[in-house]
Amino acid sequence: MEPDDAYSLPSAPGQAIPGQSAPGLTLVATPIGNLGDLSARAAAALAGADAVLCEDTRVTSRLLARHSISAKMLALHDHNEESEAPRLVSRMLAGERFALVSDAGTPLVSDPGYRLVRAAIAAGVAVTAVPGPSAVVMALTLSGLPPHPFLFHGFLPPKAAARAGAIARIAAMEAAGLSASLVFYEAPHRTGEALAALAEGLGADRPACVARELTKRFEEVRRGSLAELAAHYASQEARGEVVLCVGPAPPAAESTAESLDESLRAAMATLSVRDAAATVAEATGLPRKRVYARALELAAGR
Ligand code: SAM
Repeated sequence: MEPDDAYSLPSAPGQAIPGQSAPGLTLVATPIGNLGDLSARAAAALAGADAVLCEDTRVTSRLLARHSISAKMLALHDHNEESEAPRLVSRMLAGERFALVSDAGTPLVSDPGYRLVRAAIAAGVAVTAVPGPSAVVMALTLSGLPPHPFLFHGFLPPKAAARAGAIARIAAMEAAGLSASLVFYEAPHRTGEALAALAEGLGADRPACVARELTKRFEEVRRGSLAELAAHYASQEARGEVVLCVGPAPPAAESTAESLDESLRAAMATLSVRDAAATVAEATGLPRKRVYARALELAAGR
């Protein structure tokens, strides 16, 4: 694809105004640690907005000061987003330009903003974005694990029982054929127990990595099996910010007749018999002929 190197600010289609962003909402990604990672377009979008909607004005004011940007800030966080969204949407419909940032990285990604974006879209407000850092993509690309398909889970529940339940649901999806790298955000003090729970629920030998303090002075990517990483972080607490990546489930060496039927039925709900058989054969590693023969039987009601 041809890069558009004409320096331009976010604008709604057909409303490009050099040096000025268009009315509406611009989602602006900010650094995940290294303040030097703010892009030129991001800085221009923040400087050109009537107000910057931010999770924590203290965090955003440090970023703005570092880049000598003066901008009005309005707090928008989990506790007031639902109630503020209609007012903000009306102001944008009346012509105001808002930039939305979170404390770090891409807004909406395990951060506030989804409710405002949904309300803006429903009201016909132009929504655009200045893309940039996000810990999920950086961790995945450094992990050495297959980058796609990947499933980004965000944070696991903090309590052990709920966490085990969430992991069991992923294991069930894998049993039904999901084969994807998995990415989780985690708090540093829960990293050891989360890795142990993942090893227990998904398999101790699964390749994984812990990506820590990305873009910062003590950036580290530690790779190993889930069991190895769980053992490491059982005796040593992770410091700073942490992303966990887990490699895809290995193809099932042997699928029981029952789980093969379940996978086929699920696939045949949306795919032709032939495509469902091909998909399930690929996911399970079972011979295509055998899977197709069983799919034909199921389609015939046997
Ligand atoms: N919106 C952000 C993004 O796009 O990555 C994520 C915000 S979420 C509230 C914060 C979590 O993201 C942290 O607990 C950690 O799991 C991950 N994270 C953010 N910055 C990171 C960094 N520099 N290194 C590793 N993980 C990071």
